[in-house]
Formats: sequence, structure tokens, C-alpha cells
Amino acid sequence: MDPTVDFLDAACHGIPTDMFCPRDEHPGDAPAAVRICNRCPIRRACLDWAVTNDEQGIWGGTTDRQRAAIRRRTRTNVRTLPQTGRRRHQVGLWTGRGYTAQQIADLLGISARTVVRHRNADTKAAA
Ligand code: SF4
Repeated sequence: MDPTVDFLDAACHGIPTDMFCPRDEHPGDAPAAVRICNRCPIRRACLDWAVTNDEQGIWGGTTDRQRAAIRRRTRTNVRTLPQTGRRRHQVGLWTGRGYTAQQIADLLGISARTVVRHRNADTKAAA
């Protein structure tokens, strides 16, 4: 994924959010929304965000159930992580995908300095 894209590039920009919030969700419930996601330039970042933050509805072309399966596979139970832990996890994911500190800061609504602090804490924990 191109790390220079941001949420203003989203394919769903300007589309009613109801389309992405089906009531009785299962993989066949929101084919139109999934089709939109499948042509979205920030699909991967959107999916990472939804997995990490336990979002509901269609995100990154996936349903709640599909993301639950992703969490089980990656053994990342973000509900048990405190807010700081979720943020640190997301910083780690996006850092691994080549995002700059400023890009991550813009996506998360935090300062680039805080992103660097999360990265440094991860580095110390790994040492
Ligand atoms: S991938 Fe995310 S940002 Fe892109 S269209 Fe789907 S819901 Fe919107």
C-alpha cells in the first residue's frame, strides 16, 4: 500500500455511512460496501485500524466476523489492551508498513513525538 495516501482518499468519502453499517451482518450482507472498499486506496490501513480498534460494520472490505477471524489468527485481542497499548500496536503495524511518524500521527490524531515515543518503547521492550 502507498503510505502517502490518507483518509481523504477513501473510496467511501461522501457515501452515506449507513451502507457500511449493516444490521445483521454476515459476509453477504453488504456486497455494495465491500465492492467500494475493494477499490479503495487505503483499504489496508482501514482494515488495520478496524482490527486494532474493534470497529463495527464494514471496514477495509471486511465484516465483523471476518475481522474476528483475523484477530484469532493473529492472536491479537485488542479489547484486553489498554488505550495506550492499542495505539502502540497500531503504531507498530503502520511502522512495519513503511509509514512515517508524521503520517501515523496524522492518522491517529496524535503528535509525531508521541509516535516516536511508542516506537522507542517497543524498541526497549524488544531489547
Ligand atoms: S476500505 Fe475503509 S476507507 Fe476505504 S472505502 Fe472501505 S471503509 Fe472506506
